[in-house]
Amino acid sequence: MNTNYLFFMKYFFTILALLLISGHVSLAQEDEGPKKRSVVMPDIPGYKTLKADFHIHSVFSDGKVWPTFRIDEAIRDGLDVISLTEHMDFLKESDDLKQDRNRSFQIASAYAKGKNILVINGAEISPRVPPYHNNVLFLKDANLPFDFVKSAQKVYVMKDNANHDQLMAPFLAANKQGAFVVFNHPGNMPAWDVRDTAVLTSFNKELLDKKIMAGIEVVNSGGYNVRAHQLAIKHNLTMLCNTDEHLDTYHRFKDTHRPMTLVFATESSEAAIKEALIARRTALYFEDYLIARQTEAEAFFKAAVIAKTVRSLRKKEEPVLLVKLMNNSDMPFRVALRGGYAMEKYPLGQVELPAHKETTVMLRAMWQYPEQVQFQVDVTNILVSPSESLKTTMTIPVAK
Ligand SMILES: [Zn+2]
Ligand SMILES: [Zn+2]
Repeated sequence: MNTNYLFFMKYFFTILALLLISGHVSLAQEDEGPKKRSVVMPDIPGYKTLKADFHIHSVFSDGKVWPTFRIDEAIRDGLDVISLTEHMDFLKESDDLKQDRNRSFQIASAYAKGKNILVINGAEISPRVPPYHNNVLFLKDANLPFDFVKSAQKVYVMKDNANHDQLMAPFLAANKQGAFVVFNHPGNMPAWDVRDTAVLTSFNKELLDKKIMAGIEVVNSGGYNVRAHQLAIKHNLTMLCNTDEHLDTYHRFKDTHRPMTLVFATESSEAAIKEALIARRTALYFEDYLIARQTEAEAFFKAAVIAKTVRSLRKKEEPVLLVKLMNNSDMPFRVALRGGYAMEKYPLGQVELPAHKETTVMLRAMWQYPEQVQFQVDVTNILVSPSESLKTTMTIPVAK
């Protein structure tokens, strides 16, 4: 080999090494952002199950992170849909930011392109008097009137005598845009105004009567609000579960999963999500609980748990039936199975169905196998009202 060639190779590799060390040339792949966490929640007949958080803040109101962070965070947490609902009447970091209330949405939705996540334009109307905090979703323009505040910058100061029309103005403007209005964290701020102590104040009732308010946050920040649940049922409102995150969801929910609203929509589009919310097709998934109306709760449980049977012999002579319950979702279920069978091992038919596991229940002394077995099922971690768990039946054909 000639020495010129050797000299060249040595020179070449030295330069390459220097470039690699200095970071000018990278052999590693570009950082493509976080991998989407898979949150396995089955679709129900006729609908896709979309995972959503409709109440989040960024530095464009009083949150601590930039809007693009919310997209990466939502992907990390396995969501399909989010809405950045900045306080339209409060810009804590206002000196550093433009005043257009759509900026947060514009930045987030531009960044979300090609990332398989939908961003809905929204805002939080947040007076410290009734009707308190409400989210307005599916806005076309988030610049809503806020004449009820003295200062909406750095610190929040309401006018001393904010009148009804000033407080109503942003709701009417949002309603004109076809917005979906949600009463946020009801009853969480009684100290702000003592003149109207009911959770659903006369102002909220007015919004309800005018068909402006249509939804209610039954779970906010991972906390279940029993009074909000009662109101949802009493007034037939769409139920939502939102984080209301101001920082990073990781710290609050690292030991569980991000609380989310499951939306049962015909497809993954803004119009379909809006239609699903108007039709009240939601379920609230937080900790190991699901809150939904009977129809959606039942459809979800039946989509998640698939049952089959296997004939078998116990101690080589006693005919038994093995009922195999496969839970295909991320959510564990606690059920009580009743059917008059001699069920081995589970007193009162109380069975845990862990996520992504098959649980076998043995029915003993099946001297004559029936055509099918039927259970009355009580799913104790699915709530269909504040005091009722999901009740359903499971009819399982007996294998030949
Ligand atoms: Zn709020
Ligand atoms: Zn909020």
